[in-house]
Amino acid sequence: MKAPTAAAVSDRSRLLVATRSAHKLRELRELLGPLRAELVSLDDIGLPGDAIEDGETFKSNAAKKARFFAALSGLPTLADDSGIEVDALGGGPGVRTRRYAGENATDQDNNLKLLRELTGLPPERRTARYRCALALALPEAAGPRGGIPLRFAQGTLEGRIALAPRGGGGFGYDPIFEPAVELPGGRTLGEWTAQAKNRISHRGRAARRMHSILAGLGF
Ligand code: IMP
Repeated sequence: MKAPTAAAVSDRSRLLVATRSAHKLRELRELLGPLRAELVSLDDIGLPGDAIEDGETFKSNAAKKARFFAALSGLPTLADDSGIEVDALGGGPGVRTRRYAGENATDQDNNLKLLRELTGLPPERRTARYRCALALALPEAAGPRGGIPLRFAQGTLEGRIALAPRGGGGFGYDPIFEPAVELPGGRTLGEWTAQAKNRISHRGRAARRMHSILAGLGF
């Protein structure tokens, strides 16, 4: 009988987080809560390259990223993709959230562009939601033709786009995003504490669901 290859052995000591952002790694460490596995980033293990994120949904982009880096590293890999959908823009910018105002757009460029697009719309027509998809790729369970199995956890946070930016906390679209629990004109996520945001956020919800999946798999 052939000895199992290294990739066929279930290694639960390390979980690769498919990100180069120290901010995302720290946030996922906090949100996922205690696990037996050590969470390591692409740079921690010196893994070069970038997955092509050309999917039509957050879920498919998270899947592409997780599979790509799991195949490269042989490690169980967790990837996240997130963004904002604005109803008045037919669900846009969606998977183009980060690059909404251009390839190298700053958060401020993106916020200003979105406010401009919604000029004149009253609060009830400014509804929007954040979405987060987490994908876990398990390379040791790959099928005979190499397909790496995936598990998913997703979360959403409903809200609306404010009339103007407020607050210096958070990142991305937080200064112009009022969660639905606030009245129109109430606090944006830029005015919430990180702890309060994590309790209701799309990423917090997805991460709590993923934690159960990971714990169930022995991580
Ligand atoms: P990703 O790195 O491709 O997942 O980019 C997601 C983009 O969505 C970020 O660059 C932000 O602009 C936006 N985004 C996702 N989650 C949040 C959030 O919690 N607050 C603010 N913006 C977010």
